[in-house]
Amino acid sequence: MSHNDCIFCKIIAGDIPCFKVYETDNILCFLDIGPVNKGHALVIPKEHHENLWALPTELGKDILEACQKAGKAIVEATGADGLNVGMNNHEAAGQLVFHAHYHLIPRFKDDGHDHWQQQEYENMDEAAQLADKIKGLID
Ligand code: AMP
Ligand code: ZN
Repeated sequence: MSHNDCIFCKIIAGDIPCFKVYETDNILCFLDIGPVNKGHALVIPKEHHENLWALPTELGKDILEACQKAGKAIVEATGADGLNVGMNNHEAAGQLVFHAHYHLIPRFKDDGHDHWQQQEYENMDEAAQLADKIKGLID
């Protein structure tokens, strides 16, 4: 399944170059061209799936393995102190490329990238009600 207008499908097809760091039958990992920190890479399935929910769960093991292996090598290669693994789903969450991908971002002490801003619940009832609502919506 490949989408003609998808930039990541073009990378997989070899029509657009990339700096590849890891590849299996199902997965490609390459450097993000606009790194949050140098060494920032993307793990993508070779099949085109739009986002988290479109991914076949069978790919989960391959994705986890790629994140672990490439993530470890990125930390070692850059001398990073930590690693963020993240995924943006839908525009509101910052998704720009609609081919599911996981960001591997090496992090350094005092690299200036703050933790995301946190809020507080009004009270414990509000948190409990929301947890119940979420629980009730899981298949
Ligand atoms: P997202 O905002 O989660 O959809 O992330 C898309 C990411 O893809 C961004 O961090 C871009 O820098 C990266 N990106 C876009 N085009 C390319 C490309 N041709 N090669 C490598 N990374 C890319
Ligand atoms: Zn694609």
